[in-house]
Amino acid sequence: MLLFSLTPLLAVILVPLYGYLDGYDLYEWLAFLGMMLFCGLSITAGYHRMWSHKAYKGHPFLRLIFALGGACALQNDVMHWASDHRRHHRHVDQNDRDPYSAGRGFWFSHIGWILRNYDSGKEDFSNIKDIQQDKIALWQHQHYLLLVLLTNIALPAFLGFLHGDIIACLLLGGLLRLVMSQHVTYLINSIAHMWGKQTYSDASSARDNPLLALITYGEGYHNYHHTFQWDYRNGVKWWHFDPTKWMIRSLSWVGLTTDLKRTDPARVETARLQMQYQRAREQFEFRDIPDNLRAKLEQEYEQFQQLLRDWNETRQQWLEAREKRLQETLAQWERMELRDSYKELKFALKIQRKRWHEVLRSLRSAVATAA
Ligand SMILES: [Zn+2]
Ligand SMILES: [Zn+2]
Repeated sequence: MLLFSLTPLLAVILVPLYGYLDGYDLYEWLAFLGMMLFCGLSITAGYHRMWSHKAYKGHPFLRLIFALGGACALQNDVMHWASDHRRHHRHVDQNDRDPYSAGRGFWFSHIGWILRNYDSGKEDFSNIKDIQQDKIALWQHQHYLLLVLLTNIALPAFLGFLHGDIIACLLLGGLLRLVMSQHVTYLINSIAHMWGKQTYSDASSARDNPLLALITYGEGYHNYHHTFQWDYRNGVKWWHFDPTKWMIRSLSWVGLTTDLKRTDPARVETARLQMQYQRAREQFEFRDIPDNLRAKLEQEYEQFQQLLRDWNETRQQWLEAREKRLQETLAQWERMELRDSYKELKFALKIQRKRWHEVLRSLRSAVATAA
């Protein structure tokens, strides 16, 4: 309680005061930024996607960095964090079992759950047996307090010592960074369960919020994440802002990450289609809409689903064939045929997608004219 109220208070007073009296230079702001990234990415890529969800495997060196960055973020050791988080996914929105259930309001899910011992947050390590086998996680667990002090005080002080202003670096890289990096993570438990779109599923309160992704290293695509939690990406499209995903992918090129898990694109598309269909039905159920338009919706929905199934099948075949080619030469014509039908299907999908949105649009305008 003291820690969580004192640190923001001190940051609000001391950081501007020192800035007014002495000023900060570029080096000190870079130290702040570097430590923000160190903490933030250790939580998102390490604590969250690697340890809690096993979305990929990390090299011991990388796990060590994440263990240090996690201690620096002061969000408890990885065992507590992952145990709470797995419970959050398993019992999401159940107020008595989800440790930071959004159903208990913004304040509770943001930070309230940490401030007091609630029953829903009781320690129970039975769901992290795999992490208890991890030597680095164990080491962090045993030396947590020491690591917290080293990374939060010794590290920024050392950065300041190199530059000749220890206090400035302690204030920016230590204090301000600590408060900001903590609240950024908490936003994912609060805002990302309140504001945004339920693109892939409405089974939980999790939302996709691209704006939130900008400050949470990509974790704002929280509806996708709760729907496909084993995926190393949260922003599934290549253009979705998800620096955590980009980092994990880049590290795989140098062997620091392996076994990156992805969801089949057809499965993702199917989930999205089903949500759109469900929403259209709810929206237009009691409206005055021509029967043929209703029939069209059903028909396009069926067709779209079938096409996605075909696409998935051909895609699997194509991936297998590519694999095979590495071992033996797959007959040339066979390969060409596969590739062609795969391309055709992708084209058909594009047309289908257009038709689907056309139907949704005409439904909407039919409602508008009827009203
Ligand atoms: Zn998660
Ligand atoms: Zn969540």
